[in-house]
Amino acid sequence: MKIERKDIYFVIGVSVVYCSLSAVFSLTSIILPDKITMINPIEYGSLNIKEIGGHFIWGAVAAFVTLRVRYILLGGLLAVLIDSDHLVGLLHIEGIPRMSHSITFAIIATVVLMLVFSRKDYRLGTIVGTSVLTHISYDIFDGPYGFPILTPFVNTIIQLPRIDWLVFEIAAIVIIGVSSFIITKKETVQKSTSTQ
Ligand SMILES: [Zn+2]
Repeated sequence: MKIERKDIYFVIGVSVVYCSLSAVFSLTSIILPDKITMINPIEYGSLNIKEIGGHFIWGAVAAFVTLRVRYILLGGLLAVLIDSDHLVGLLHIEGIPRMSHSITFAIIATVVLMLVFSRKDYRLGTIVGTSVLTHISYDIFDGPYGFPILTPFVNTIIQLPRIDWLVFEIAAIVIIGVSSFIITKKETVQKSTSTQ
């Protein structure tokens, strides 16, 4: 496993786009029904070193199965940066808390990031999609928390049992592991046919 300069640019680029997307997505909640006035996340101390470190480790551990430094770093970073959906809370306007903790955000982020960076980078797609799982996993572990998982279709906050942290983390590891295995196998076949 090694890291080159182009990997660092890639990791920074993906992180910036993902972070902005999550922040913008949180703002869409101001037009949704069931919105509420939110508490400033800094006031109740949700942005601390323990939370940032926890999210990074949960994301990086799941992404480790790719055995590639750029995706391991992204696994950790995206699981932290999804919390830029606190933007709507920081602005003290009415909205829905934790908008990006949802299936819709996972799908939108995967599509947008692959369109922007590489349509064929399926590893990137998997890391982006599962970042929502690893993030929610740590939130529940540290919780108890509820999330608007089905927003914008159902805008109520759905409470999850604490044991689900394990289910979400294992699901992420399995999804990344299986897809990495298939992608690596395909790449090996392509390489061997092109050298023949
Ligand atoms: Zn969170």
